[in-house]
Amino acid sequence: MHTVREAYAILDGAVSPADAEMVPLAEALGRILARGVVSDVEWPPFDTSAMDGYAVRAGEAPGEPGRRERPGLVAAGDPVPPPLLPGEAVRLMTGAPLPAGTDAVVPVEESRREAGRVRFDREPRSGAHLRRRGESVAGGTALLAEGQRLDPAGVALAALAGADPLSVRRRPRIAIATTGNELVLAREKPPEGHLRDSNGPMLAALCRARGWPAVLSAPVPDEAAAVDRLFAAGSDEFDVLVTSGGVSAGDLDLLPPAAERAGWEILFHRVSVRPGKPVAFARRGRSFWFGLPGNPVSASACFHLFVRRALDRFEGAREPGAPQVRARLTRELPPAGPRETYRDALLSDDEGERRVEPLRSAGSHDLLSHAHANALIRVPAEGGPLPAGSIVTCVLLER
Ligand code: AMP
Ligand code: MG
Repeated sequence: MHTVREAYAILDGAVSPADAEMVPLAEALGRILARGVVSDVEWPPFDTSAMDGYAVRAGEAPGEPGRRERPGLVAAGDPVPPPLLPGEAVRLMTGAPLPAGTDAVVPVEESRREAGRVRFDREPRSGAHLRRRGESVAGGTALLAEGQRLDPAGVALAALAGADPLSVRRRPRIAIATTGNELVLAREKPPEGHLRDSNGPMLAALCRARGWPAVLSAPVPDEAAAVDRLFAAGSDEFDVLVTSGGVSAGDLDLLPPAAERAGWEILFHRVSVRPGKPVAFARRGRSFWFGLPGNPVSASACFHLFVRRALDRFEGAREPGAPQVRARLTRELPPAGPRETYRDALLSDDEGERRVEPLRSAGSHDLLSHAHANALIRVPAEGGPLPAGSIVTCVLLER
């Protein structure tokens, strides 16, 4: 049986980033950049006004009756106006190009105009209310890095830099299948001894919440022929197959032997973790299989700990895996015992300090406790109790 750390090393060794593809910027939100974005322009791209007002030369002491106002108005998008003459003020709008020689803009609210002259409440300060070409971004600046996930701010930077279309990593295609004779669909009323499949919809939602396309099939019965069909599908249909159920040591735990019969190489089966000990990971060609346990909290924890890491790596993310943070524990936790343990918990902010409250859970079937959690507290294997007030590692449940 592998430790969590060993399982991570196996995953990291097996999964490498997918190919790049070009996508239009309008469809690139949430994608991982396969190439960094370098600006081909300066920002701002020309000297420009930050206010509606007057372009002037500061400190030229024009005396009474103020500066001569040049007739007309310069607006955003207009050509660069002729240079400023001594004693002159040029009326312009926010975003307008500045005439050469401008070193301040006086807001219109601080000005009074009379008979072709304009006077200001106070003498303008050099540099006020104008933006110099390239002051935010010099030409050739790296704006976005390879491996970065494109968020809305990144979309804006890509647009500024003319990166449309842009090069991103191909997303993993995911097939999800749940197994178990007891399962019925969510829209059905379970007969005695049956229950609704919650893992299938949950796993599909976990994938889709991160932008990964996932196809969910109907529950597969615990029968060798049905399970064999599951593993027969080819890598042209999916990159990653995620199943739930059928991987623990019971008689009906048919999946690992079926996977091996179909030519999958099991890279790990069983990890020293709680919940989620039976988790399996295998490879065939360029495809991967994650066999998650059927217990809903175990399935979710294994997704966040293992599947998420592999899918992030597949997509070429710079920091694969669910983010981890440190937080102060609100009450004592018992020792983990021999297996590294992850407990449902609620992270919150206590006047700038992160605190984490363990939630009472009835066990790895307690989907309701898990649904209230926004993090899992990591309790190291073979340690003592974690005292109240100690600093612990938490895995964020980003959903
Ligand atoms: P298994 O890992 O197949 O032995 O299943 C362990 C437990 O999880 C059993 O109590 C199952 O009824 C339950 N379970 C299995 N699959 C699902 C599922 N798709 N949705 C909800 N519960 C499940
Ligand atoms: Mg089962």
